[in-house]
Amino acid sequence: MNFHVLTLFPEMVAQGLCTSILGRAVQKGHISLETVNIRDYTTDRHGKVDDYPYGGGAGMLMQAQPVYAAWQAVVNKILGKRPAPDPLLPNDKTGEERRIRVIYVTPQGRIFDQGLAQELAQEGDLIFLCGHYEGIDERVLDTIVTDQVSIGDYVLTGGELPAMVMIDCISRLVPGVLQNEESAEYESFHDNLLEYPQYTRPEIWEGKSVPSVLLSGDHAKVDQWRLEQAEERTRRRRPDLYELHSREKNAYAFLEKDRLGHMDMIEVIRKRQAEILYAGENGVLLRDLPSGAWMISAADMDMGERLLSRIPRDCSDPLFAVHQPFLRDSICRRFQVDEVNACHQAVYTRKSPLPEPEGFQICVPNETELDLIREAYGPLEPEEYLLERIRLGKMLAIREQGNLAAFAGIHAEGSMGMLHVRKAYRRKGMAAALEIRLINMFLEKGDVPFCQIFEGNQASLALQKKLGLRLASGRVYWIS
Ligand code: SAM
Repeated sequence: MNFHVLTLFPEMVAQGLCTSILGRAVQKGHISLETVNIRDYTTDRHGKVDDYPYGGGAGMLMQAQPVYAAWQAVVNKILGKRPAPDPLLPNDKTGEERRIRVIYVTPQGRIFDQGLAQELAQEGDLIFLCGHYEGIDERVLDTIVTDQVSIGDYVLTGGELPAMVMIDCISRLVPGVLQNEESAEYESFHDNLLEYPQYTRPEIWEGKSVPSVLLSGDHAKVDQWRLEQAEERTRRRRPDLYELHSREKNAYAFLEKDRLGHMDMIEVIRKRQAEILYAGENGVLLRDLPSGAWMISAADMDMGERLLSRIPRDCSDPLFAVHQPFLRDSICRRFQVDEVNACHQAVYTRKSPLPEPEGFQICVPNETELDLIREAYGPLEPEEYLLERIRLGKMLAIREQGNLAAFAGIHAEGSMGMLHVRKAYRRKGMAAALEIRLINMFLEKGDVPFCQIFEGNQASLALQKKLGLRLASGRVYWIS
């Protein structure tokens, strides 16, 4: 993991992160830390980087120009280190640039937590932008920032400490940084639980003994005791977290009964991108945040109706992914929608990556190819959605002699999809090459590769079988 910090106080960040565990991790090459002085990039003769806010008001604002130039320099450096995305278009870096996350630390952002740290730890490079004074000109934030993140509802003088807090937390999740990797997996916030109490020598201190179970040598008993303690402690100290933990536990208990069929729902919960609105013995209702889709599975019609009654009837542009035909029918009636796509769900259940076929240059499509993608993919997805996927770097493509030949991508809720080979380029193995690349990308991030295939798409079903994906017996109905 390479951290790049854009700041006016580089020495503060460098000094704060060079000792103990992180210092060792840098020395061993598990992480790298580059601090970039924004002031070095100002075009002002006097080294000025700030000015008064238009419209008046207290304090000074950091100007757009030096921030943008510092960002551009870092991005160029990162991309220069990597092979060009496509040798046919060496200057086309937009897609690649967009894939690098730029985190503006700000009290106005989403609150940083362990889930976000886990997500960010999967990236190869992260750029942090630290504000100072009253903040930064909004226009440059709109241009370069992908995430706005806060460390809490209070205001500090600058973004350096928040960036350091986040870098410390993310680094601990990078393989190799902690000597015993288990310790990151079982501590507070894993599974939405606080950590259990811990004890070390001596066995008796000031008349207080270590709980006897910890001395028993029975690992199963120790694990059980620790789980109970963690649950009890969380319930008492953090009832909000305990509620999330219980919902997640109940949701998994229901969804795991048909793991293949529910992999879409299991993955959005595991990645903490969904709100669990209900989870019980007979059904689960989720709202996936990136896609806005309501995801539902119910054991029977009665439960199905109860779950549907929790969704506001007047929700605009409703999107549903449901797992039973009775839910499909009821949704069409209740929300007066009729666009239904029945899909098979296929899951790659192995952990090992697939060998990538040779001879294909897989690259990132650019926005100028949107029309071709739209034309090939038809009206299945709206234009804005495809554009967003391209902008977020969630699409892959193969070009032949500079022409777009095939493409595929990752949907907002996290499935592989949008796989298409243009007519003139079929029967060359491009679909397999793209899907294999996607599968390997998922595995690298620790995600489960899965996709949804329209009923009747025999070519895609055959491809899934060839690549070793397992088909769920039921269907997922996408309704909009
Ligand atoms: N005027 C800004 C506002 O009201 O949102 C606050 C500016 S603050 C004084 C200066 C800089 O400190 C911000 O640009 C941001 O980078 C950083 N900062 C302050 N509090 C923070 C927090 N809770 N989380 C993350 N960054 C923070």
